[in-house]
Amino acid sequence: MVSRRLTGRGDTFAGYRSRLVEALRARGIRDLAVLKAFAETPRHLFVPEALRPRAYDDAALPIGNGQTISQPFTQARYLEALGLRGSERVLEIGTGSGYQTALLCALAGQVFSVERVRALALRAQQALRQAGVTNASVLLGDGTLGWSDYAPYHAILVAAGGPEVPPPLAAQLAPGGRLLMPLGDRGAQILTLVERTGDGADLRRTPLGDARFVPLVGEHGFDA
Ligand code: SAH
Repeated sequence: MVSRRLTGRGDTFAGYRSRLVEALRARGIRDLAVLKAFAETPRHLFVPEALRPRAYDDAALPIGNGQTISQPFTQARYLEALGLRGSERVLEIGTGSGYQTALLCALAGQVFSVERVRALALRAQQALRQAGVTNASVLLGDGTLGWSDYAPYHAILVAAGGPEVPPPLAAQLAPGGRLLMPLGDRGAQILTLVERTGDGADLRRTPLGDARFVPLVGEHGFDA
């Protein structure tokens, strides 16, 4: 949940935020819950101070440690594809700035997020606290191993591109669950929706379009 204090009157970024929401709508984002999450989540708290004036541009921005906060439109497409209803337990791999974590928290019940870079994990935790988000947990570690303590997950979102779905993530996906991941090589990937069909271990894959994410680095990803 996002506190009203930061998103209500007196929030100097409110105008920029509603313009971002309009830009997302103009580009075809229709899911009202997703648009509401963008309207209520203070992106400026998740970007480096010097970039705050650009916090609500529909653009990827550097967040330090060679990583980027993804473009809002890309994140919105991701979130639409997950089709969250408000009560799910979600696993996110690649916390980064924590912004997408906050969006997920507005759309789901509980969010468990794994980040391998200590400085980013710490900063994200701090920004989530500042934003008043209370349903996120951040773990420092290799996300290609998942986070087995809270499995299974109704949805898994991988925010970095890898060659293959890491087997631990497939194993931690609940029956009927959805996993989104950019699949490909280090330079270019195809955003892929992976669904665990009803009762069995079968995974159904649907390509959703081209993507360009930072590499997923870990035991079941690329070498560092
Ligand atoms: N969605 C994020 C941006 C994620 S960028 C945001 O809104 O800011 C991708 C992140 O994945 C980076 O922070 C990178 O450090 C992290 N990452 C890469 N490989 C990882 C792994 N194996 N486990 C956890 N995090 C990983």
